[in-house]
Amino acid sequence: MLYYFFVTVVLAVWVWVDGRRRRCSEAPGLAFLTVFLPILSMPIHFAIRPLRAGEVREGGYSWNVCKNIALAWTACVALVAVWCLVSSLVAPASRLDETVTTDTQRLEGAVEVIVGLRVLFWLWLGPVIVITVIGWLLKTPSIIETGPTGALANQTPQPKPLPEKPTVPPVIQDHSPPSVIVDCPTCGSRYEVPPDMEGQPVNCRKCGELLAARRDARA
Ligand SMILES: [Zn+2]
Repeated sequence: MLYYFFVTVVLAVWVWVDGRRRRCSEAPGLAFLTVFLPILSMPIHFAIRPLRAGEVREGGYSWNVCKNIALAWTACVALVAVWCLVSSLVAPASRLDETVTTDTQRLEGAVEVIVGLRVLFWLWLGPVIVITVIGWLLKTPSIIETGPTGALANQTPQPKPLPEKPTVPPVIQDHSPPSVIVDCPTCGSRYEVPPDMEGQPVNCRKCGELLAARRDARA
């Protein structure tokens, strides 16, 4: 019982901090509920918390709550299973001398653990199937939330960094005739290129248009 509250208080603090950062108005209430019923409050928190930029949430509120309950229940049962296994491995060793004396009794102990895990398995699978089916029925595939949403969307967006100015390569000043020039019809730029480029297909330095370099008629 003490362990239970230790875990839930940690989770509650996380919900509170996460909700505060996301400016979720429901966070204090949900954090409080987390101390007692994390299996309900955590799924609601994940279903309603404002999304940050880049985060996506699909299917609507009901689906998300159901899906998260299934996940939370899975985590919960997994914890219990690990706990049972660990305690069944550790605890019998301590009382081995007193109670478990024969091989038959040890076998019975092992069977008990296996039966317990099977019960746990059905305890896990049943609710997961039920909640997933309910969630699937309530799912609205058309709802796709993309962050930022809610209070996070109202924040003044960070000014985008200005795109770097493209560095214009220095024009090669080769005054020795004959000069070969590129005269781009697309962007109107005109510049010299090395003489051996004459007649070669080149990409315009400014706009990237594919052209043929030619001898300057005016030269
Ligand atoms: Zn051009």
